[in-house]
Amino acid sequence: MRWKEQLLKLKPYQPGKSTGEVKRQYGLSDIVKLASNENPFGSSEKVREEIAGYPGKFSVYPDGYASELRTSLAEHLGVSEGQIILGNGSDEIIQMIARGLLSPQTNTVMAAPTFPQYKHNGIIEGCGITEILLVNGAHDLEGMAAAIDERTSVVWLCSPNNPTGIHITEEELTAFMARIPDDVLVVLDEAYFEYVTAENYHDSMRLLQQYKNLIILRTFSKIYGLASFRVGYGIAHEDTIRALEPVREPFNVNSLAQAAAIAALSDQAFIDECRRENRAGLQQFYDFCDHAGLKYYPSEGNFILIDLNRNGQEVFQFLLERGYIVRSGTALGFPTCIRVTVGSKEQNDGVIRVIKEFL
Ligand code: PMP
Repeated sequence: MRWKEQLLKLKPYQPGKSTGEVKRQYGLSDIVKLASNENPFGSSEKVREEIAGYPGKFSVYPDGYASELRTSLAEHLGVSEGQIILGNGSDEIIQMIARGLLSPQTNTVMAAPTFPQYKHNGIIEGCGITEILLVNGAHDLEGMAAAIDERTSVVWLCSPNNPTGIHITEEELTAFMARIPDDVLVVLDEAYFEYVTAENYHDSMRLLQQYKNLIILRTFSKIYGLASFRVGYGIAHEDTIRALEPVREPFNVNSLAQAAAIAALSDQAFIDECRRENRAGLQQFYDFCDHAGLKYYPSEGNFILIDLNRNGQEVFQFLLERGYIVRSGTALGFPTCIRVTVGSKEQNDGVIRVIKEFL
């Protein structure tokens, strides 16, 4: 078979161990998973009510244009319906952008380390990939702008960045956009946007009005607590969305997921509460790290990258055997770190207690 050569070198995505597997392997009854930046408080009660009373027919295809969800989102964001594209998670929007714009004749620029799907999809499309190292956990936007050449078609930004939690400021983003040629698409992945509290965070919606070559990605998987439903979306100029739409699978967001997302969006009080709880949780980690003399990256997301100055894999294993699943920094490009999702107060206390035991 004539596979693309680069596909044979790629590893499939391997999710971490399931909680069931960890329970069996280590004879544990309780597991706390703080590895995938999910919402520890679940989702709004309104979602459960909506799903319990779901009136739709399972024998019919979903609304391929997700009209109702689109209307709700457009109102919520203050943009037109034509400025939105829906995806089976923002993972799928990343894939659509790569499929539509990347090819062996092009190259793409991204930070490193950052969310791995940008590179993964770039490799699948066989394009050139330029990675610009983070500086103190933040994007080197100067370096990224300088790396753009006449073959560049897509630049990926992640704010707050996964796995460091560092955001791009308004000033930085404005200066960056002014330097980017009109025919280069800038993808600004804001999967953790709703957790942000920094006052100098960029006003991405305002920038959208100014720049036709900007697309913003957001998701219902994080603060909205709907990771299992797989709903993400892109917001851009109508022309950009129009060009991407033919790449989208016709029925990519299922009916239950659409209903769940509408219900979740209608409960902003839940979102505000989760943001507040997350801030308090981050503070628990900051206090612990400051007290223990550990370096960490101040985070605008719902996770924290902690440098333990030891092999991250060892810490990961120690925590795993005691019922806490976190992410080892080894796989994230920070070999002496672990990335911990901010959980409930009890979960945070628990994981901090075990890290203390390790130290
Ligand atoms: N972007 C970033 C930065 C992420 O961390 C994630 C999830 N880990 C995603 C995109 C994908 O999210 P989803 O496909 O669930 O919307």
